[in-house]
Amino acid sequence: MHGATILEKIKVEQVHVEGGKVRGVRTDQGIITADYVVNCGGMWARELGQKNSVGVPLHACENYYLVTEAIKDLSSDL
Ligand SMILES: Cc1cc2nc3c(=O)[nH]c(=O)nc-3n(C[C@H](O)[C@H](O)[C@H](O)COP(=O)(O)OP(=O)(O)OC[C@H]3O[C@@H](n4cnc5c(N)ncnc54)[C@H](O)[C@@H]3O)c2cc1C
Repeated sequence: MHGATILEKIKVEQVHVEGGKVRGVRTDQGIITADYVVNCGGMWARELGQKNSVGVPLHACENYYLVTEAIKDLSSDL
């Protein structure tokens, strides 16, 4: 509605920087220029950040749940 273009099946390989400024992104289909780049790569955001030596403190973890009857000596909110 506000003029954004959504491109699918295209991989961002690195944020394109020139003269110390972000100029866009380099993709597997060429360079896309942009004044601003937002890294919203989800659990891959860290990997993408690393390409430009930017640390994104994200790490995917698997959660485990165990449902039991009450266990003696274990508090109910453990
Ligand atoms: C199995 C599973 C079940 C879940 N269930 C729930 C739930 O019930 N409720 C809930 O609230 N949350 C749930 N989540 C978590 C939820 O899916 C995430 O928190 C949410 O999707 C994160 O959104 P996001 O936009 O940050 O990232 P994502 O939705 O992960 O989107 C990131 C996008 O970036 C793209 N991308 C990554 N790297 C590149 C690149 N280099 N170039 C181009 N594109 C790239 C990816 O392909 C992806 O489309 C679940 C997650 C999983 C894995």
